[in-house]
Amino acid sequence: MYWTKPSCVCLDTPYYNTGLASLCDVHGKMILSDRYVGHFNKSVSQQDFVDFLKGVGVMSRVIINECSAYDNPLMKAQQWSSQGRWTINSINVDWTIENIDKYLATDETNKKLAVAELIWPVLTLACKEVSLAQYRSNGRERLLQVPSMLVQHLKAAAWIPGKDGVFRKPQDMTRDMLPDGFTYDDRNGLLTAIGFGENAQKQSAEHQARETKARELGFKSAEQAKHAMELLQAEKEGLLQITQKVEFPDTPVRDPARRSSKIAEEVSTARDKTYETRERSVRTSKGSVDAAPYLSNLYTNEDGQMVCQGCHREMPFKKRDGKPYFEAVEAFGRKHVHKEHPAQHLALCPLCAAKFKEYVKRDATAQESLKEDILTTPEKQFEFDLVLDIPARFRFTERHLLDIRSVLSTQVQTGV
Ligand SMILES: [Zn+2]
Repeated sequence: MYWTKPSCVCLDTPYYNTGLASLCDVHGKMILSDRYVGHFNKSVSQQDFVDFLKGVGVMSRVIINECSAYDNPLMKAQQWSSQGRWTINSINVDWTIENIDKYLATDETNKKLAVAELIWPVLTLACKEVSLAQYRSNGRERLLQVPSMLVQHLKAAAWIPGKDGVFRKPQDMTRDMLPDGFTYDDRNGLLTAIGFGENAQKQSAEHQARETKARELGFKSAEQAKHAMELLQAEKEGLLQITQKVEFPDTPVRDPARRSSKIAEEVSTARDKTYETRERSVRTSKGSVDAAPYLSNLYTNEDGQMVCQGCHREMPFKKRDGKPYFEAVEAFGRKHVHKEHPAQHLALCPLCAAKFKEYVKRDATAQESLKEDILTTPEKQFEFDLVLDIPARFRFTERHLLDIRSVLSTQVQTGV
């Protein structure tokens, strides 16, 4: 048993729960003996005893002390001078808790919690002046003000416990995260001074900015704008999937020469496109060939999907008879091909058909260059660039390409 001065002793259970007993290595005080328990009575209660101990200077809590601003690193960073004459108007004040760096450096959870429980009430009940260190040599000099040492220490350390038991820096906390026993009270402005809740506030400011931006763009909210972006992205990916999924059909030719001559023969014996003059010119020969079965046979892949030569996607819908709807569009006008033959038709979806008629069929130059392309295409090249409303690549199966070339070259050879 030791006998010592009250100032060298700290108070804790069983008399009054302060948490100081677990922090002796920081504050260096001795723990009050428990021998007084059992000696309280009607004339001296335990509370009287505690009050007496506090009164004579036994440590029962941490205290914010005034100190010199000389050691404040932020003050040192200022353009300050301690040279001026010291007068009654001189100010040199800073605030801290003795050993605050050591308190905040504890790393055992129970000690950290004891530290937080010691500091929190002291901080929220302190006067607002303790947030600032102030300095001036005399009344003629500018008053320098920087955050106090107390604020700087409490701002930099992850010392405030959350409901989840994790200790965080004040900036990373919010009011809702505080556990029981830690009441939010910022009337003295010190929680603001140490940056409590700063990041959440910043995020909410950013959130606000996003909301404003979204509304400027015509959306109801940032959430709606985000949803729209996701839809766009999904649509883009969906289209990609469709493009990738569909196999382009393949119709290899075993004997190209034989096939060519067969087509040539067909063409030479084919019926001319004939016209009669009526109110308007009506092509009467059109019904003599049905290109649909020819094209549907060529452009249906092994999965039973019929594919458009223009956009390489599956035909958009099925007819009442269950067959895919497509348009058999004549590739060339009478000027280039004057015979009726199924091979001079293209298998197109309605959209590509309309575009082809508009941009190629009705444009003499485009017709000429398509004919040239087909006649001079290198072997195994089945695609042609065509400029519609946007650049497109028209694709043929090998058989169709050979057939249409034969149709064209027969026409050229016969000199029509
Ligand atoms: Zn198409």
